[in-house]
Amino acid sequence: MQKIGILGGGQLGRMLLQAAANYPVVTSVLENDTECPAAHLCHHFTKGDIKDFDAVYNFGKNLDAITIEIENVNVKALERLETEGVKVYPKPSVLRTIKNKILQKEYYRQHQIPTSDFIITNSLSELKQAEDFLPAVHKVGEGGYDGKGVQLLKTKESIGKGFDAPAVLEKMVNIHKEIAQMVAINDKGETALYPPVEMLFDPILNLLDYQLCPAELSTQTLYKVEAIALSVVRNFKSPGIFAVEMFVDKNGDVLVNETAPRVHNSGHHTIEAHYSSQFDMLWRLILGYPLGNTDAILPSIMVNIIGAEGHTGEVVYEGLDEVLKIDNAYVHLYGKKKTKPGRKMGHVTILSKEKQDLLHQSNKVKRTLVPKT
Ligand code: ADP
Repeated sequence: MQKIGILGGGQLGRMLLQAAANYPVVTSVLENDTECPAAHLCHHFTKGDIKDFDAVYNFGKNLDAITIEIENVNVKALERLETEGVKVYPKPSVLRTIKNKILQKEYYRQHQIPTSDFIITNSLSELKQAEDFLPAVHKVGEGGYDGKGVQLLKTKESIGKGFDAPAVLEKMVNIHKEIAQMVAINDKGETALYPPVEMLFDPILNLLDYQLCPAELSTQTLYKVEAIALSVVRNFKSPGIFAVEMFVDKNGDVLVNETAPRVHNSGHHTIEAHYSSQFDMLWRLILGYPLGNTDAILPSIMVNIIGAEGHTGEVVYEGLDEVLKIDNAYVHLYGKKKTKPGRKMGHVTILSKEKQDLLHQSNKVKRTLVPKT
């Protein structure tokens, strides 16, 4: 049986392992936290730092292939493993480009992929000389996650909020919709596209809140979205699964925001709502099986279950019974022992032919199922 490793043991690793149980594969996870969501679902757990060269190299050297559930890993070790014949999904070269928002934006420009116009600022004093570029969004090159390395700079007065570090200053897009397109590509270069999803954000926590599938787009926009996402993925010249996040602006133009080269939050609904889930798909392509069917069984909405304000500590799920009574709702709790405000504790996917029903049920779930202490 093939031996496959996952760097990171969070909820994405957990759901990847749930799908692995259907295939002839021996799984290993590298993660510092022995109580992480993926710890008890893998065959072999190694405690270690995914950012450390030796930890990643020693973990990977006896494996057939390795994949990630987060970008923030030791890329040098993956490069070494690749030269020694371990397959890496996605290729380390892709991780190098994507991990750094400056390199990522330059990649889009280099491949004529539509993205908002940008300049690079190396320090706060450089940023202050770029006043004419506002309104813009300042994004730190490395180390920012879940909105933490992002500052909206609308006016000249706000420029001091920017980062005193290498960063991208990109023009503020007049957003009509935020969407994401998942694309799978195997070793032979064959691709499979999921229907794009439409995202709605929590304006305070800046976390993805609800997500509707399929996104409501005109046929013309859908074609643009698919063509752009394919171009992003094909130019990487790497097998793997990718989430391409895009903006549709008020003129109907499609612009790439960023890409994740891995299973992603915007594909959670595919577990129940699609014939082959994003997790199933990744195993198919790592293990060399045919790609799966990406079609939707039914339209769906996915709700993130996020730690409530004012509650930090051992988690108790309020309203779980109530939500489990809903016929077409699928509950996923990630097994995190502790909740804190804004932490992703789980998600619920709701399936229905009727959009009104999806919206109604998802609001009910959001109000009812609350992680507290
Ligand atoms: P992160 O990787 O931390 O999630 P993103 O680059 O996705 O950061 O940005 C977070 C959010 O900020 C986006 O979902 C979007 O709502 C907003 N945003 C990012 N870039 C722009 C932009 N150029 N114009 C307008 N809004 C933006």
